[in-house]
Amino acid sequence: IIKFDKVVKRFDSFTVIDELDFEVKRGEKVTIIGPSGSGKSTVLRILMTLEPISGGVVYVDGDTLWHEKGSDGQLRPASERHLRKMREKMGMVFQQFNLFPHMSVRRNLTEAPIQVLGMPKAEARQRADELLEMVGLTQHADKYPHQLSGGQQQRVGIARALAMRPKIMLFDEPTSALDPELVGEVLNVIRRLAEEHDLTMLLVTHEMNFARQISDRVCFFDRGKVLEQGKPEDLFTNPKEERTREFLKAVL
Ligand code: ATP
Ligand code: MG
Repeated sequence: IIKFDKVVKRFDSFTVIDELDFEVKRGEKVTIIGPSGSGKSTVLRILMTLEPISGGVVYVDGDTLWHEKGSDGQLRPASERHLRKMREKMGMVFQQFNLFPHMSVRRNLTEAPIQVLGMPKAEARQRADELLEMVGLTQHADKYPHQLSGGQQQRVGIARALAMRPKIMLFDEPTSALDPELVGEVLNVIRRLAEEHDLTMLLVTHEMNFARQISDRVCFFDRGKVLEQGKPEDLFTNPKEERTREFLKAVL
């Protein structure tokens, strides 16, 4: 459902993503691990169309993202309309919760479905209440983000992304801004999502035990490439590459 084909991303002369080939199948749960600066967030930002690419092609759900090759062979941006359509296939949860501060929790969940998808208000509200129940926040629906703990805010962030009914969920270190005692409640919500067979999940995390539990596949990123990937039990217990071994030794 996601495919990077020789994707290059440069900031000025600095190459962050270096001819990356990378695929995620429909329904697959994939975790990206790797050192700081290896391009993990950039991959998610490219998918969310927050970052244009310098070369290659990205496919999402059978369609090209961001750039299409013109008849002249040059890369050019796709239309705004196309970008919006593609963006709706994906929901993203960031390290910082990025909630709308001036809206109640419930309205954080109903705003985009109503404004962007044109969902009837009553339906959006019902869907919001179902999602709030799923993340265990029913009694906080009328509060504002600043009245919630970090863990609760992040669970709202997850519910808000799900409110758009994405096919793909992207998580960028969703627990790394949280106090340690709040990490578990957020991981539990993500763990439950991982049990949904239809949902494709791509997750960047430093929670290695969690990655081991929920992932079909773990990818080790190094300098803008997938250096090594495999089933969690293989990659974590028997990494082939020296750099993977070093990284795991440092974080496990
Ligand atoms: P971390 O684990 O620290 O989050 P990461 O693997 O997510 O790291 P990225 O955020 O993808 O790394 O960044 C990869 C590299 O690209 C870094 O060296 C970073 O400094 C650089 N970079 C990212 N965004 C920009 C930008 N807007 N302008 C210039 N350089 C950038
Ligand atoms: Mg990052």
